[in-house]
Amino acid sequence: CGIVGILARRDVVGDLVDGLKRMEYRGYDSAGVCMVHDGKLVRRRAEGKLRNLVDVLAKDPAPGHVGIAHTRWATHGAPTTSNAHPHATGEVALVHNGIIENFKPLRDALIARGRRLESETDTEVVAHLISERVEAGDSPQDAVKAVLPRLRGAFALAIAFRQHPDLLIGARLGSPLVLGYGDDETYLGSDALALAPLTQRIAYLEEGDWVVLTREGAQVYDVDNQPVEREVTLSGVTG
Ligand code: GLU
Repeated sequence: CGIVGILARRDVVGDLVDGLKRMEYRGYDSAGVCMVHDGKLVRRRAEGKLRNLVDVLAKDPAPGHVGIAHTRWATHGAPTTSNAHPHATGEVALVHNGIIENFKPLRDALIARGRRLESETDTEVVAHLISERVEAGDSPQDAVKAVLPRLRGAFALAIAFRQHPDLLIGARLGSPLVLGYGDDETYLGSDALALAPLTQRIAYLEEGDWVVLTREGAQVYDVDNQPVEREVTLSGVTG
């Protein structure tokens, strides 16, 4: 299970899959990517080995300069394509490692509000909760800030927004997530190894942190939503 996110000015799907490959040793049962491209969320997913995702992408390419990617180790819902991440609404796509322990009441409430969920995962509720806010006019930052305190359990999240090809948001609590700084590019990854070919300049997010990435940099907020600096270190891991 692993997460990669890339915000750049070039097609990045190859690097996203490469990042997932570097985390294959962790084990996984399915994989997927979602790009923000031309005002659309372009998603490709596959059961089983990364090879299968690569085949899907060969038939059905996913261009785009910003994207998120995931290898899944299923905890809730069978290891099928429809349960594979990213999970998406019309506006929001996200990948998640961990477990949302209170997903059942959140899911019931979403369904009662008329939202249609497509998977059996604990994760999908998070995409819908953030999407509800975005659809109501919240900025991505405000939407994420409002939803994170409602989640119990463990998570690393990378979130992309259809109408915002200029940003990605990450968050972590109980699952690892690192921030990577490139040259006019920024990255999210489960670990420094995933980002090694892209950059060695890494900041480790702390428990409860969330982060807004732009191509120029990143602003980290702590669990109390206060802007904080997290030290940038050289990972020492090379591509
Ligand atoms: N709990 C989520 C799921 O089952 C994420 C699993 C993971 O960490 O990959 O889809």
